[in-house]
Amino acid sequence: MKVFQPVEEIHFDESKETEEQFAARSWERHKKRNNSIVVDLFHGQYKSRVECPDCHKVSITFDPFCMVSLPVPSIKKLPLKLVLYLIDKDATIIPKKITLEDLNAKLTVEEILEQIGKSLKKERKNLKLYLFSENKPVEFIDNSKDMQYVNDSPQCAFIFELPGNEEASKGNIPEEKKASPAPEPKKPETPPISQPNPSPIQTEEKKEENTIAQPTPQTIQTEVKKENNKMVPENVKKPEPMQQEKNPDPAPAPSPLIFVKFHVYQEGGQFYNKDKSISYTRMIFLSGSTTANMLHLTAYEKFRSHILTYFKRSADSKNECLIKLEANDNETLTKEYEALFKGKPEDSRFYIINLVNLGYANKSPCINCDKSNCIACQYTEASPLTLQQISEKYKSKEIVFEIRFQKDLRMEYFSLNRCEEFLMDKITKEEEFKNITVYSCLDKFSEIEKLEKPNEWYCPNCKGFKGATKKMELYRAPNLLILHLKRFKNSRVSNYGFYSSYYGSKITSLIHFPLENLDLTPHVKGKPLDSLPLKYDLYAVSNHYGSTGGGHYTAYVKNPFKNIWIDCNDSSTHKATESEICSAEAYVLFYIKQNAFKPPLD
Ligand SMILES: [Zn+2]
Ligand SMILES: [Zn+2]
Repeated sequence: MKVFQPVEEIHFDESKETEEQFAARSWERHKKRNNSIVVDLFHGQYKSRVECPDCHKVSITFDPFCMVSLPVPSIKKLPLKLVLYLIDKDATIIPKKITLEDLNAKLTVEEILEQIGKSLKKERKNLKLYLFSENKPVEFIDNSKDMQYVNDSPQCAFIFELPGNEEASKGNIPEEKKASPAPEPKKPETPPISQPNPSPIQTEEKKEENTIAQPTPQTIQTEVKKENNKMVPENVKKPEPMQQEKNPDPAPAPSPLIFVKFHVYQEGGQFYNKDKSISYTRMIFLSGSTTANMLHLTAYEKFRSHILTYFKRSADSKNECLIKLEANDNETLTKEYEALFKGKPEDSRFYIINLVNLGYANKSPCINCDKSNCIACQYTEASPLTLQQISEKYKSKEIVFEIRFQKDLRMEYFSLNRCEEFLMDKITKEEEFKNITVYSCLDKFSEIEKLEKPNEWYCPNCKGFKGATKKMELYRAPNLLILHLKRFKNSRVSNYGFYSSYYGSKITSLIHFPLENLDLTPHVKGKPLDSLPLKYDLYAVSNHYGSTGGGHYTAYVKNPFKNIWIDCNDSSTHKATESEICSAEAYVLFYIKQNAFKPPLD
């Protein structure tokens, strides 16, 4: 019977020895109790560094291992649903509600938008994700953010199709040379009609792009040509047709597009009072040259499908006939708008439009009425201010308008928040299973982790259990190295072998590992005892088939004499090809250090 020698507890004291000396002492201590051929061949040493978050006491220990359990960089799936509302630039299209379940938390906004764009045949670059709280946008989500971030936010995710800003910043949207000529303050309703030159415009583009939503000069000019349109922006009086015709390619310096938000309230509701808006904010990019007239038409365009619904529900067939949703050209819109709004007393309109005083917080006067206590005041079609001028005066690239619906309307008739469920294919992360290698598992092994309950660390300084940070590293690697891939969430290693919990889940990803030349040089921190490079060859694999709770084990082993692989499956064995060795069933890998042993005899 073997008698174990008593061993003393040892501690690392930086002032008395080096880490290397302490590691050697720890190893000697291990050998005192466990000296055997198994230790010589299979055991290695970890270094673990634990730091107290409060007193920053650092504890370093060197512990032996006979097998390294490698965490598999797993894909965290979000258990919660993410609901996205897609707001089309075409206001007559019912917004789509997209429910995404079981999402990869690492999916970026960019990837989500890419796939949604594909499904809906939308340009990805025109889709922007915003977080909304109580119908108002509170945050624009950068495309590099991931779903974990979006999901952690309590707000609703809205995707807006906002064509324009990117094109504009690249100069792709042709804009006027003169960004915002001073409009004549008077008679905005009957601007002189010019006969601007219609510039070439792609039919497709025109069909797709809402002329109201995107009043680029060309679309406006084209529409203007068609008829005596009273909603003509004033600046088309100064077109530069020759220049545009001669030189259509180089994009003229774009006049900045202005981000316009329409907050929707019922009468009395106010932007600054944090009043609950009754519908989600409509957002759009508009040219700086947009006049009050055009803005009203744009707002009308955003709500006309709802106004039509209102007429239908209130059995107002006379007005119902006025709105022709199938057409959304400038002419139709203007005609409808004038029939419904023009010349009507304010209180018989569905809504009024107020310009929010963006300088109110700084006690700046309202630029519309000059009063310093004005929070928001009515921005009529007669207002002389173009968006560019408002933007300049408020020094803001964003302008906020309130759309205030009259109180005595039956708001439910408008269905302002109507949307429809859109079914989408599952969104997955492209490289989900592609790049997992035994090296990425080794990296993950050495990642700093926080010791959470119930595994907190007892800090001898603080005399209490602390959520310390812990970093594990391989310090010394044995000649025969066993790597266990932690495919089971609750897997443990006991004296009897590996087993898995019945309740855990199995990671079934393919983890790539080399059959030859596994290089541990960057992963082993201590100086090797011999001069051999830390290169290893695979000699056996234990495979696990099935899931948690039940399964079947097989093994691949290499016959070093014949240099062939053998598949061992219960009582049967057969020759295996090298290509089958690295499979998604691989569970425990057995490596041998190159040149550590004499080559086998033939
Ligand atoms: Zn402490
Ligand atoms: Zn005002």
